[in-house]
Amino acid sequence: MRRKVIAGNWKMNNNLPESENLISKLISGLSTGKNNCDVIICPPFTSLSLAASLIKGSQIKLGAQNMYYEESGAFTGEVSASMLKSAGCEYVILGHSERRTIFGEKDEQINKKIKKALSSGLKPIFCVGETLEEREIGVTNDIIKRQVNEGLSGLSEKDLDTIIIAYEPVWAIGTGKTATPAQAQEVHSFIRSLISGLFSPASAEKMIIQYGGSVKPDNAKELLSQKDIDGALVGGACLKAESFIGIIEAA
Ligand code: PEP
Repeated sequence: MRRKVIAGNWKMNNNLPESENLISKLISGLSTGKNNCDVIICPPFTSLSLAASLIKGSQIKLGAQNMYYEESGAFTGEVSASMLKSAGCEYVILGHSERRTIFGEKDEQINKKIKKALSSGLKPIFCVGETLEEREIGVTNDIIKRQVNEGLSGLSEKDLDTIIIAYEPVWAIGTGKTATPAQAQEVHSFIRSLISGLFSPASAEKMIIQYGGSVKPDNAKELLSQKDIDGALVGGACLKAESFIGIIEAA
């Protein structure tokens, strides 16, 4: 039985006082309820250190939203894996569709980032997903296959133990449109079959595959009860403690 993993991607939201306020509410809200999930928050870089100190002793784990694959040097504006580790991160989101579309990240770069994260002891949350146009012309599986093949290229079966895949249809991110549970399940099952073919049936069976795209407390339960959906990567709804906790409780 795979565990459920709920991660909140804060994106470019929350300065230091706002971060402190949200984390305090999350900690007190989660301490009163019961859940069996792994809970991860991914604040912006500037709030990571503060978040690491606030979440100590709670069930919340820390992730970053991106990193660069070089160790150090003349890469203005970038942040390395070892910087994230020293700020207290355990996870890092890589290949998010906003990185792919707004900042032009390609599969090859994402693959380098995944390798660097793994060799630095960070657990990647590797995002894949098709655009609306790609879905409408019927190439969803081709796109997912390319992103999975290239993103995970050169990795070992052992590496897979520390990777989470997030299936995020681009047309469902921040739009209020959610994939139906059946649509999401279909792609999740396809991703699991890809992992099985690329690595092994055992690694596919263990793989945590999150769904992301307008997950809210009122649609979380149905999505998360699908056979191959093992959690959620949440954007908008993780910015309010009540709605993020609502999703965690639904899981
Ligand atoms: C995301 O950015 O990963 C995401 C899923 O956003 P939202 O929940 O707002 O659609």
